[in-house]
Amino acid sequence: MLYGYAGKILWVDLSTGALRDEPTPAGIARDFIGGYGMAARILYDLIPAGADPLGPENVLAVLTGPLTASGAPTGTRWTVACKSPLTGGWGDANGSGFFGPALKLAGYDAVFFTGISAQPVYLLIDAGVPALLPAGDWWGLDTYELEDAVKAKYGKKAEAACIGPAGEKLSLISGVVTAKGRIAARSGVGAVMGSKRVKAVVAVAGSGGIPVPDAEALKTVRDKYVKQINDGTGAANFYKTTGTPGYTAFGVVVADSPIRNWSESPDAFPDPNKVGHEALFALGRKKRTCWHCPIGCWGEIPLDGGPDAAHQPEYETGAAFGSNLLVDDVRMLLKSNDGCNRLGLDTISAGATIAFAMECYEAGLIGPKDTGGLALKWGDGETVLEVLDAMGRREGPLGELLADGTRRAAAKIGGNALDYAVEIGGQELPMHDPRYEPGLALIYQMDATPGRHTQACQYAGGPAEWDATEGFPGFGQQREKQVGRGHYMKPFSHLAHVMNVSGLCLFGYCSTTATLLSEFLSAVTGQPYDMATVMQCGERIANMRHTFNLKHGYNPLDQRIPWRAFGRPPLERGPTAGFTVDIDTLRREYLEDMDWSQDRALPSAAKLRELGLEDLVADIYS
Ligand code: SF4
Repeated sequence: MLYGYAGKILWVDLSTGALRDEPTPAGIARDFIGGYGMAARILYDLIPAGADPLGPENVLAVLTGPLTASGAPTGTRWTVACKSPLTGGWGDANGSGFFGPALKLAGYDAVFFTGISAQPVYLLIDAGVPALLPAGDWWGLDTYELEDAVKAKYGKKAEAACIGPAGEKLSLISGVVTAKGRIAARSGVGAVMGSKRVKAVVAVAGSGGIPVPDAEALKTVRDKYVKQINDGTGAANFYKTTGTPGYTAFGVVVADSPIRNWSESPDAFPDPNKVGHEALFALGRKKRTCWHCPIGCWGEIPLDGGPDAAHQPEYETGAAFGSNLLVDDVRMLLKSNDGCNRLGLDTISAGATIAFAMECYEAGLIGPKDTGGLALKWGDGETVLEVLDAMGRREGPLGELLADGTRRAAAKIGGNALDYAVEIGGQELPMHDPRYEPGLALIYQMDATPGRHTQACQYAGGPAEWDATEGFPGFGQQREKQVGRGHYMKPFSHLAHVMNVSGLCLFGYCSTTATLLSEFLSAVTGQPYDMATVMQCGERIANMRHTFNLKHGYNPLDQRIPWRAFGRPPLERGPTAGFTVDIDTLRREYLEDMDWSQDRALPSAAKLRELGLEDLVADIYS
């Protein structure tokens, strides 16, 4: 009995329409846990080097983890994994909401799509029974319309993970959307789903549960960690009261939020409270929560006071469409977020790409001929909405120019346009500034999915000898202390990997002690996961994703650094004035800790063998 898992994986050959069940592989489940860990192990063998990310050789995986729908507080997450068309290397993204639990309770731990369908289709899994069906009129719908169509056809229990117009048009900055706004946004996963002509995966939970070894013992663990959340451990109270919008104004003040395409200090965005949580919630926020989550960090807000509600813009969106574009109208933020969700666009990359376009326009690199006559002006929220819609639908000259993000747009524009593209490895940086917290720079460059802020606890500024059983050392930027800082990334990224692949939400992880992972994984799976085992699983997953990248010719050391965001040259004013990230030192420390070579980031053979990845040795060293 494979406790903690639904026990089955569904393989869908889109080229033939054939469906096949396989037992969830117990060894991979034990060593890679679930989510992108399991996907990396399986896809490493399946996707050949050089495969076109938008071609039939790419494989799209939709996965859960053992803590998804397990009773673990915030165990709501689901993951999409594939070769990324944005970076050319490993790609993954995860979302919350209701879809992950529905997929698992519908009887499957994961679905793997191979090949390409001749016609648009959707996959229905109704209480354990899968069917591949023609998408028909659903192709072309935005994600809200699709969600409504699914509920109308299959009832309220049906949960859909779908692409919008952006994914259909193969926008490389598109994601997979559930519940009209809980989106797996990064790595261009929406484009891969669109390339396979899969409009949606629809899951209807059955009446059975997930087998666990001892339900009473599991309840005891759950009670312990729900109590931690209720007692306000870590960031619990922040997530329960304001959620991430509570950071939007603060992030500007302390200079964590990028301003004017990362070129300015906080004085260029003088009234951040206009886009802060109080201004946003004054529009009439109704608090919402994901599947059985005791935190409930998000909410819905009426659009223009009408009956339609939109998801609240989270911090990342607030900064991407607020300070980074100099838009200080909170209603525009709400509409921009709503537009991204409907179109199925990654809000981080979309906002960053519009900021890039504004600076190119200002510099005269593009003009009215390229924009369809639109004048791109900082702070002009109405124009932002027009650009967003064109991008998401790949319509008109500007839509075609920007639909694939900053790197592709810069290549088309030419000249020095790349100087204005704040991306790494092809993916736009999230809204946390390495000049504020230099550890971010290391994560942005060295994670297998570059430019991600959820792959380690970037704010850790605590003691060098950190004990995972004592919880997190807390926030403390101490940005001047760069020597020694690179040593934080290894333990924190390993924990983040296990958190992500388990199906746990980052906000739950930040609202409890880290021992939640070991105690819940043990209680749910019946396997002995102590913290050392958890760390080793994280390290195995990190090496697996990284080696996938090396196989596909993506080396993090070869990537162009967005120097503007790393403080070269430094800002002249504001809290981070004069500061430059010492990326060489940070990277050297991390490579040393990981036992990866300093010159090519190659994992040592001894390390791979220690992690049970013997088969990768020959691939790297042949
Ligand atoms: S903390 Fe927020 S995003 Fe995470 S599971 Fe709970 S409600 Fe969802």
